[in-house]
Amino acid sequence: MISARHTQSTYTHENLFRGILFCAECGHTLSLAHKPLKDGSSRGYFRCMYHYRWPEECQKPHAIYYDVLYDVVLIQIRETARSLQNDDAFFALVNRHVKQEASPKRNAQNQAKLEKRQVELSRPLRKLFEDNASGLLSDEYYADMLKVYQDEQAEIIEKLKNIRVEINKAGDYRSNAEMLREAIREYLDIEELTSFILNKLVEKIEVGHRSVVDGQPQQDVTIVWRFAGVI
Ligand SMILES: [Zn+2]
Repeated sequence: MISARHTQSTYTHENLFRGILFCAECGHTLSLAHKPLKDGSSRGYFRCMYHYRWPEECQKPHAIYYDVLYDVVLIQIRETARSLQNDDAFFALVNRHVKQEASPKRNAQNQAKLEKRQVELSRPLRKLFEDNASGLLSDEYYADMLKVYQDEQAEIIEKLKNIRVEINKAGDYRSNAEMLREAIREYLDIEELTSFILNKLVEKIEVGHRSVVDGQPQQDVTIVWRFAGVI
């Protein structure tokens, strides 16, 4: 359990997580509430109100104390800053994301194969045209064969288009991840969160349901980083 170092006085004035905190189950924003304590102070917490209003759509409660969330996010920023500065970890991250589709190497191989076939196809097409023109091929047979080749050509064009989109996507992911790497570099030893830092680094935060597994409390808090998504 992470200790609550940040007293409520540090955050009652400003909700740093405004607009970026979401329920992992239903996707709605979490609302801030305050739990009164015996000493007259209060402890802030976030919860998904959707669960109480529409329990069939958000079946489990999703709630987290402000100070717990604060510490989790602070630690994740430090750890992510550290791991992204390491070249091996950085390229492993890029590969993980790119592999979800197909590897860049396989994409390049397929592209070369399809482009070769595209060139090959032009030869029989020309011959077909010449044979028909010289009367060697009936018009009916010519039309049938033409359609077979044209269909294959259309299929190749479509496949090549998809491969190019994927190749661009892989390049895009890497340059986006480079942007996060740059942005997060100065927060290796971050001590305090500010809304400026959160806006700069974080797209959104998803809070999961809190459960107890083998006597240990467990809760997923997923940061969706700007530029790089979930890493
Ligand atoms: Zn919810």
